[in-house]
Amino acid sequence: MPVNVLFSARPALWPVYEPLLSEGLRAAGLEFHLATDMPPDQVDYVVYAPNGGLSDFTPLTRLKAVLSLWAGIESISGNQTLTVPLARMVDHGLTEGMTEWVVGHVLRYHLGMDTHITRQDGTWAPEAPPLAADRHVCILGLGTLGEAAARALAALNFNVTGWSRTPKGIPGIRCEHGAEGLRAALSQAEIVVLLLPDTAATQNILNAETLTLLPKGARIINPGRGPLIDDEALLAALNSGQIGHATLDVFRVEPLPADHPYWAHPNVTVTPHIASETRPPTAAQVICENIRRGEAGEPFLHLVDRQLGY
Ligand code: NDP
Repeated sequence: MPVNVLFSARPALWPVYEPLLSEGLRAAGLEFHLATDMPPDQVDYVVYAPNGGLSDFTPLTRLKAVLSLWAGIESISGNQTLTVPLARMVDHGLTEGMTEWVVGHVLRYHLGMDTHITRQDGTWAPEAPPLAADRHVCILGLGTLGEAAARALAALNFNVTGWSRTPKGIPGIRCEHGAEGLRAALSQAEIVVLLLPDTAATQNILNAETLTLLPKGARIINPGRGPLIDDEALLAALNSGQIGHATLDVFRVEPLPADHPYWAHPNVTVTPHIASETRPPTAAQVICENIRRGEAGEPFLHLVDRQLGY
């Protein structure tokens, strides 16, 4: 009997993924039926993205697993109709893209690039930036994406501190964890990068209190998720100068509404949720490997802990 795989994502992705998934499933030696529509009670696996329109999994009575195309799964992890394993996306291409984006934006702040791009007024003010070794960068979240970014920044000699829920040991990175660790991680951070998932425990992790733990003029880079930051508190901190500048890629409401104060703030850069994205050639391999595992009775990769929400 073939394995039935329902592709439930943005329709524009179907022509991209259909050949890649077909090739991967064939290479795994599986007989399969892959489609964007099929009777619900025949679906074995769902390849899932939130914009595919699937929200009630109850009719999918023989479903074995949901395989997310997205790394962030906050829109599905609390779905009560989903009772089978949920795997999130860990994709080499997505990780590479995020590392490049984070390093680029950290370097923008570190080197003071904006000063020399915007000030073409004849001012000759020779002031070289410090070396990376003298710059403290803090990464909140040391998972797949946070650790890769932390390692890349450490390779450039930045003074990197990372923060996670559980203790870690990563060569070249000062690792902190838990509530006390957060204070220690933020206290010296001139540049903070948020690469945490959106869960009940991480929402508003940067708030009126934690923003004051940072050195005055610190910069914030958020490619994680919008709810990680208390927006009112950040705007107040930007207006007081406690925070020097923020680069925000993700927001509570996306697209960011046209009248949101972030758009007009002189010390905010808004990017439209483009820090990184799942890359189909590598992501399709991850999906196919998980289907192969499911059919072989082997444990799935990258399973979400539904209690923790990531
Ligand atoms: P992971 O699940 O691999 O890592 C999450 C990290 O956050 C882990 O280090 C985890 O700690 C830590 N964490 C979770 N909860 C807490 C907590 N309560 N306190 C402290 N640390 C905590 O996720 P990824 O690295 O793959 O992705 C991170 C996020 O990036 C995604 O959830 C998504 O929201 C976002 N993203 C954004 C994209 C964009 O284009 N803007 C693209 C892709 C992802 P521990 O290691 O101890 O478990």
